[in-house]
Amino acid sequence: VRTEAFFPDLPGYVTLRCDFHMHTVFSDGLVWPTVRAEEAWCEGYDAIAITEHLEYPRKTDLVITNHQRAHDLARPTAEALGLLLVPGTELTRGEPPGHWNLLFLTNLNVIPTNDHRAALRAACAQGAFVFWNHPAWKQTNQIAKWYDEQQEALTNGWLHGLEVVNGTDYDPIVHQWCLDRQLTLLGNSDVHGPVGLDYAYPPGSRRPMTLVFARERSLAAIHEALQQRRTAICFSNSLFGEAQFLRPLFERSIEVRTPVLTIAPRGRGVLQVHNRCAVDFVLKARGKVAGIPFPERLTLYAGKTVAVDIRPAATALKSVPEVRLPYEARNLWTAPDETLPVEIVFTLKPEEAKRSP
Ligand SMILES: [Zn+2]
Ligand SMILES: [Zn+2]
Repeated sequence: VRTEAFFPDLPGYVTLRCDFHMHTVFSDGLVWPTVRAEEAWCEGYDAIAITEHLEYPRKTDLVITNHQRAHDLARPTAEALGLLLVPGTELTRGEPPGHWNLLFLTNLNVIPTNDHRAALRAACAQGAFVFWNHPAWKQTNQIAKWYDEQQEALTNGWLHGLEVVNGTDYDPIVHQWCLDRQLTLLGNSDVHGPVGLDYAYPPGSRRPMTLVFARERSLAAIHEALQQRRTAICFSNSLFGEAQFLRPLFERSIEVRTPVLTIAPRGRGVLQVHNRCAVDFVLKARGKVAGIPFPERLTLYAGKTVAVDIRPAATALKSVPEVRLPYEARNLWTAPDETLPVEIVFTLKPEEAKRSP
């Protein structure tokens, strides 16, 4: 059974739900590759990458002679389910330079494992999309540090994105680095065990998702979108991304079911707002509308319709035909300390005075 995770398409782009970082028994994970494809399908994903550690396969139990084996094993299952499977691997070095995911490789078996520079150069020669994984991992007090090795890779064109969310951790420092250095935002699970065990609590919790805004539903289009930084992250009932993506995503998710509220003088109307998105929108007022009181806090729950009492003053009913309720979406993050301003728009119509026969 597949549980859909709905996100609307954006103008000119389809929204694809992706996880570009996970492991199987072919490195230090605990499941067989086909299981990764089935899990992802069940959780509403469009695309995944199985990214085994290039340097430490499970040597004692499995002799890995082909680094593409996990990908190749998962592919028939992925294809049968209509899931896109991105070829990739995790370059696994000490810190610095740390761990890097190399996606869209054409041949994993020729990536050198002795020198990270040689590996990044070889990957980029294959047209790879490269991102630095979990930058804060193993750092002092879990605070991410930008090393010379990262700067060198960035300067050489070997670094294209950063993992802002890894597993259960969001990193505001890394988020800001993406904005400052024009790198792609990624949010991945890095799941090692079965997803149902690792994300069992709290009930209904889901693993992180990278939302990719692609020209079409294909591997080539995902590759292009990643290179062009057209992504956002869904994590822990929040979205992280640039306003140019989050605003249309919000606007196309909500549907005012009562676009025209007909209200008698001193009467009330019930505004009904539906949220089609897989995340709640947690709203807080960022201003007032003269003569129209509205809730200071309002949560538009995922997949549900919320009813809001509107009791306009008599003067407002006559003078303000179009109402724009000013809110701030407190769980839509455009920067580590900045959330998205949004509006709920509807029209007020005074009820015609009833004539007695
Ligand atoms: Zn890693
Ligand atoms: Zn990993």
